[in-house]
Amino acid sequence: MNNYDRLKKSHKLSSYQNSNNPQHTDSLLDDEFTEQVQRVGFNMWGALQTIISVAIVMATVFTMWNPSNIFSNQILDRMFRSSSDSNLQPTSVPLTPTTSPRPRIGIVAGHWGNDSGAVCQNGLTEVELNQKIATLVRDDLVNEGYDVDLLQEKDERLYEYTALALVSIHNDSCDYINNEATGFKVAAAMSSIFPEKASRLTACLVDRYGSITNLRYHANTITKDMTNYHTFNEINGHTTAAIIETGFMNLDYQILTERTDLVARGMSQGVLCFIRNEDLNNIPTQEPTP
Ligand SMILES: [Zn+2]
Repeated sequence: MNNYDRLKKSHKLSSYQNSNNPQHTDSLLDDEFTEQVQRVGFNMWGALQTIISVAIVMATVFTMWNPSNIFSNQILDRMFRSSSDSNLQPTSVPLTPTTSPRPRIGIVAGHWGNDSGAVCQNGLTEVELNQKIATLVRDDLVNEGYDVDLLQEKDERLYEYTALALVSIHNDSCDYINNEATGFKVAAAMSSIFPEKASRLTACLVDRYGSITNLRYHANTITKDMTNYHTFNEINGHTTAAIIETGFMNLDYQILTERTDLVARGMSQGVLCFIRNEDLNNIPTQEPTP
């Protein structure tokens, strides 16, 4: 008789004894024991499921957490989505960390694809200058590890456009106005869902652009045309946006055309300051004049 037969025999014997026992004490004890085993087994499985779910959520959170996307408003959505996904199907979520998509920035080259903008006597057009600056800004930001969309003035991608930041580049008149007509202007999209973020993008652009180019900031000459810029109404409300007039094509002609690299760097550093939540040296005030 092998062990298995011996076990079977003892089981039959105990069943027989139980059936002959009017009080079924052993049987009751057996049932209770089985129930306990089932309960412990169930609790252990439940605990294991909970641990796996928590581990998956933590892994996802840490994977998504990097300094460049802290400000993405989608992060909470993604956290919420990933946690509810893992609750539904804890075993189907891959345990290896996935790489988060590269954060996106939009740069509009003002007037591109639409009109020439300001035109200088020597033939230089504002749109040419805007495009040149926008391309250099794009290159800077790509080198810093971001995906950059170079957009036209009325680009169809601007509808509900979603990015960490969107900046539209323009330049002021090529005509001589007066000796005050030098420097740059920045206006934020106050239609943003988070106006404090729009103010911060403005502050970052003013601070970095001003210190890198040494151009002066025209806080009090920002017009309603700038604050009500058409692009601001098309984009997704979560996208922080601003418009910059990088200089006057008359008195600032030299720096705009000969040191376009500086102009672009001032802008890209301003965008990076905002995205990376860097310290500011001075906070500008923005009060549009009618
Ligand atoms: Zn313009």
